[in-house]
Amino acid sequence: MSIGRDGPRRYDFLFAGGGGAALSLAYHLVAAGFDQSSMLIIDEEEKRDNDRTWCYWVKGPTPYDSVAHASWDKLRIIGDGKDLMLPIEPYRYQMLRSEDFYRFVKERLSRCPNVEFLTARVDSVKDTDSGAEVLVDDVVYAGKWVFDSRWKYQNLVVNESRYRNLKQHFKGVEIRTNTDVFNTDVARMFDFRTPQHGVMRFFYLLPWSPREALVEYTLFSPETLPPEEYDRRIADYIQGVLGITEYEVAAEEACIIPMTDQPFERRGGAHILRIGTLGGRVKASTGYAFMRMQWDAEAITDSLRRTGGPFDLPVTPPRYHRFDSILLQVLLDRGDLAEHVFVRLFDRNPVTRMFRFLDEVDGVWENIKLMSTVPIPTFLKAGWPVMRP
Ligand SMILES: Cc1cc2nc3c(=O)[nH]c(=O)nc-3n(C[C@H](O)[C@H](O)[C@H](O)COP(=O)(O)OP(=O)(O)OC[C@H]3O[C@@H](n4cnc5c(N)ncnc54)[C@H](O)[C@@H]3O)c2cc1C
Repeated sequence: MSIGRDGPRRYDFLFAGGGGAALSLAYHLVAAGFDQSSMLIIDEEEKRDNDRTWCYWVKGPTPYDSVAHASWDKLRIIGDGKDLMLPIEPYRYQMLRSEDFYRFVKERLSRCPNVEFLTARVDSVKDTDSGAEVLVDDVVYAGKWVFDSRWKYQNLVVNESRYRNLKQHFKGVEIRTNTDVFNTDVARMFDFRTPQHGVMRFFYLLPWSPREALVEYTLFSPETLPPEEYDRRIADYIQGVLGITEYEVAAEEACIIPMTDQPFERRGGAHILRIGTLGGRVKASTGYAFMRMQWDAEAITDSLRRTGGPFDLPVTPPRYHRFDSILLQVLLDRGDLAEHVFVRLFDRNPVTRMFRFLDEVDGVWENIKLMSTVPIPTFLKAGWPVMRP
């Protein structure tokens, strides 16, 4: 283990993992006046490639608007015999390619003389009396605060006797066509026109030009599929449902996002805060995380400014965790009803109420109004094991 004569190199903020959550936080810190603080962002990858496409609903500006790839003010939901076209103003549904996000944030951080990057694997993170230490290839780096976002799906262990556990797994392809086939005014959030086989499956279609779109086959279920099954369903959808026979695949993405109500411990120690997926920022019942990571970055920055530490963070009303648990239980028990449940929710509620519910910011009365639109017997049955003392 290498420690310099004067002890390990010391930073104000050390980031173990430098993906979406870490770069968002570093950006917010710098933008809020911590631009003279010393930071080291360590990731085992370079984080330059387009390794994911983020989409999120948002109203008002975000720091990344200038590099957003596309934005829609209408969403379409097809299933359960309905075809809903939903204007979503004052929200917009925005698409951000990770390569653009990484470049934009890194460019901003490169203007701060005390921000450094290291491409290396973090072996461990541990608390000390005066801060925390990160071990990389036998070299110790010390930080006043460490933000840990080292996330690998395969490291997740869920106690399934106590908690619900599903996977959001998908494969997406960016396709290009020779003729104009896509309506760029509207993003398809759910298109259930694919065999359900008892678990929630849908297509997601994001067109950013008349000839280019991201087509994603997504499932909310306990088990993944053989790789060729995603490809087969995607080809069936593009050719059979969209009626597109000539296209080329320009890029692909695939992943598993956790959907579990098992708590993610936020504190890794007295000086270690977990952020991003590792810090439980993924919404258990939807898999959305991007905006939640932005709000978290704002809250952490604010906490540091007010208290000198990053732990004074807002607490989500517990009823929202219960709602997540109930929805996960419904998906586990009655995946065959998922299409009906989701289409009905969007059909019977203003989309603003849906977004505010999913963003966990609505009051109890609005929550009651929303819950009154679900199939009550199914939710009561699923809710019983969740609410039981
Ligand atoms: C393909 C894909 C698409 C997604 N789409 C959306 C979306 O549309 N909307 C949305 O809201 N959410 C989406 N998500 C979910 C979520 O927003 C992202 O996963 C987001 O990147 C989470 O940020 P993070 O920092 O927790 O994880 P990551 O961005 O994955 O960052 C974690 C980093 O830790 C690094 N790391 C891990 N272990 C080590 C180690 N030992 N040493 C050094 N570095 C390490 C990894 O290389 C990685 O860069 C998507 C996720 C994926 C994978």
